[in-house]
Amino acid sequence: MGKLYLVPTPIGNLEDMTFRAVRVLKEADGILAEDTRTSGKLMQHYGIGTKMQSHHMHNEHKTVDALVQRMENGETLALISDAGTPAISDPGFLLVRASIAKGIPVDCLPGPTAFVPALVNSGLPNDKFVFEGFLPVKKGRQTRLKLLADEDRTIIFYESPHKLIKTLTQFVEYFGADRPTSVSRELTKLYEETIRGTAQEVLRHFTERPPKGEIVIAVAGKR
Ligand code: SAM
Repeated sequence: MGKLYLVPTPIGNLEDMTFRAVRVLKEADGILAEDTRTSGKLMQHYGIGTKMQSHHMHNEHKTVDALVQRMENGETLALISDAGTPAISDPGFLLVRASIAKGIPVDCLPGPTAFVPALVNSGLPNDKFVFEGFLPVKKGRQTRLKLLADEDRTIIFYESPHKLIKTLTQFVEYFGADRPTSVSRELTKLYEETIRGTAQEVLRHFTERPPKGEIVIAVAGKR
């Protein structure tokens, strides 16, 4: 019996790779990468020569069975995504579920992911929190926001820069203008920043300075 590793990779700063992540990727029989070109740079940086093949949201439904078969035949496979921890708002869940169903050992290494530093940097309560990932773009978005308006734990969202203003405007509308909010941008990168304030203040900040880069929003729960 082989094994499935999920290996977190940096969310910006190449130094955030762990020693173990590098060793597991070097020793695996194959690496499943969301985008082999993107991950190629990381492989080159760390001198990892293991064969890569693509595993992304457009082919994962079709490839899962064959990958499980390879692990049943003794291969150790390592799944990586473009950035952060695989299966967190990234492909991976299907392969993990199918592997567990066949009794294949699954091991997700600890490592980079965007929501943990965003939550801790926010200064909002983090003893209990919920991870929402990306809000639905259209269908189901309002229902989700209405439901979350009563959530009493800190809520974490992933967001893209061109939707940030719309999302913050809806937070003011659904959660209230005074709701403590924190936006972390470009974590671990050169232009990293965290803007904290009420939903209204954070909205005003980004309306005046349109955001670029990758974004995580943390919103305090309802009092
Ligand atoms: N698997 C990743 C993880 O573990 O965080 C998440 C992948 S998801 C497709 C990409 C989203 O993660 C971005 O749109 C952004 O919301 C967030 N993200 C990734 N890197 C980030 C960074 N350096 N700074 C802020 N947010 C980031």
